Amino acid sequence: MTLRLYNTMSRRIEPFAPIAPPRVTLYTCGPTVWSYAHIGNFRTFLFEDLLRRWLEASGYQVFQIMNLTDVDDRIISEAGQAGTDIDGFVAPYITAFNEDREWLRIRAAHAQPRATGFVPAMVRLVDGLLAKGIAYKGDDGSVYFSIERFPAYGRLSQLDRRELRTGASGRVASDEYAKEDARDFALWKAAQPQDEAVGAAWDAPFGRGRPGWHLECSAMALDLVGEKFGTDVLDIHAGGVDLIFPHHEDEIAQSCAYTGKPDFARFWLHGEFLNIRGTKMSKRFGNYTTPRDLKADGVDAAAVRLLVFQTHYRQKLDLTDDALEGAREGARRLGEFGDRLGRAPLGTGSPAEAEAASALRSLVTQAMNDDLNAPRAVAALFDFVREANRLLDGSKSAGPELREAWEWAGQVLDVAGSPAATLSLTSADTITVTDSVTAATVGSEEWARGLAVERIQARKSRNFKHSDEIRDELKANGWEVRDTKDGSEVVRMS
Ligand SMILES: [Zn+2]
Repeated sequence: MTLRLYNTMSRRIEPFAPIAPPRVTLYTCGPTVWSYAHIGNFRTFLFEDLLRRWLEASGYQVFQIMNLTDVDDRIISEAGQAGTDIDGFVAPYITAFNEDREWLRIRAAHAQPRATGFVPAMVRLVDGLLAKGIAYKGDDGSVYFSIERFPAYGRLSQLDRRELRTGASGRVASDEYAKEDARDFALWKAAQPQDEAVGAAWDAPFGRGRPGWHLECSAMALDLVGEKFGTDVLDIHAGGVDLIFPHHEDEIAQSCAYTGKPDFARFWLHGEFLNIRGTKMSKRFGNYTTPRDLKADGVDAAAVRLLVFQTHYRQKLDLTDDALEGAREGARRLGEFGDRLGRAPLGTGSPAEAEAASALRSLVTQAMNDDLNAPRAVAALFDFVREANRLLDGSKSAGPELREAWEWAGQVLDVAGSPAATLSLTSADTITVTDSVTAATVGSEEWARGLAVERIQARKSRNFKHSDEIRDELKANGWEVRDTKDGSEVVRMS
C-alpha cells in the first residue's frame, strides 16, 4: 500500500509519487518572527513534522525548507516603536522559535532561510515577471502582479472570478497594499521612511523597496531547489488552511508565471486550525498560548505531540484542559512503558512478541499511508503497549522484535513522555557509592541512586549535615527525597 495524501489542489486523496524518487522536496511556510509563535502555529509545524517523519520512515530522502519571515508590516512597525532595526528586533524571536521547535521534538528543516537573506533571488523573480509583462509598476513606485495576465489565478482556492473580486479586494486592502486593480497584489513595496529607519529597504533595478510577503516563499523555494537539484517544481508544499488564500494562491501565480510550469508544487497539504475552548486563538481573546507557557506549566512536550496527533490534521482541534490532561496521562503511560522495556533484560523473543511487533508496524503503516491518519496510528501504539505490558508481566524479558517495533513507532510519532522515576532504597542498599556517582551523569537516575545511598549511610552515622547537603544537591538536580519507614525514596520531579 502506498502513501495517499489529500491534495488541496484537486480536493482529492491521491497516491503520492515524487518527481525524482527517492528525493522529496518539501516546502513549509515558517513563522513570522515578530513575536513568540503560538500553539496554533505549532499545530501546523507538528503536522508537517509528522509528514516529514513518515516520508523518511517510508524510505524517502526528504529535503525540507522552512522559511522565517523576518520582514513584514508588523515587524517594521514593532521595530520602529522599539527603536531598533529589524535584525535586532527579530533575533530573540528566532532563537525562541528554534527552542520551542526543539522542545516539541520537531525535526529541524534542512534549510531555514530568512527572507532578508534572499533579497537578490526576489529581485530576480520580480525582474523576470516585469520582463514578461505580468508585473507592472504602480504610481506609488511599488511593483504589482497583474492577475489578469495569469488566467490560472484562483485554481487552488477555487474562487470563480466573481467571488475573487469581492473576496480578494477585502484582503488585499487590509494588507494595506495600494493597487491599480483591486485583485492585484504587491510583489515589491516602494521604500517608505519607516522602512529605511529600521533597515528594511533594498536597492533594486525597479526601485528601492522591500519584498511583499508572498514573494518571499516563491523566491526562496525556487532558488534553493534550483541550486540544489536543478528543479523548479516542489513535490509538496504545506501550511495552515489560512494560507490557502491569498498566500499560496499568490505563491503559485508568481512562481508559475516565472517558470512557465503548470505547477509550483505537485501536492498542496493544509492543516486545520487549533481552537482554544471553541475560540480561534488570538491575543485579543486572551487565549494566546505558546509552547513556553505549556512548558512552564510542567507539561511534557510528548503530551502536546500526543494531543495534536490524536486529531486528524484536516480536522479542527479544540484544546481544552481535559484534553490536555488526558494527553499528559497518555504520554506518561507510554513513557513508563518505554522505561520498562528499556530495563527488561534482552530475551530471545517469542511468537507472541513477534505478532505484537508486526501488528504495530502494519497498523501504523496502514494508518499513516491513509492521508496521515495519526489518530489511528496512536490507537495502535496504545494497543501494542497494552499487549507488550502483558507479555512483560509473564516473561520478564523482551526480545529484539518488540524493542525495534517500539523504536520504529517512536521515530514516527515520538509521543512517549518521561516517566516519573521513583527509586526506593533501604539502609540495606550497598552499592559502591563513589564509583557509581562519579561515573554517572549528574541528574541521571544512576547518579541519584548513588547519592541517595550515600545519604542513608550519612544518616546512619548521624552525619545530618552531610545528609542535608545531599538532599539539597538532589533537589537542585530534579530529585526529591522522601524518607520512608525503612529507608528513603527519591522521586524525579516533573
Ligand atoms: Zn509561504
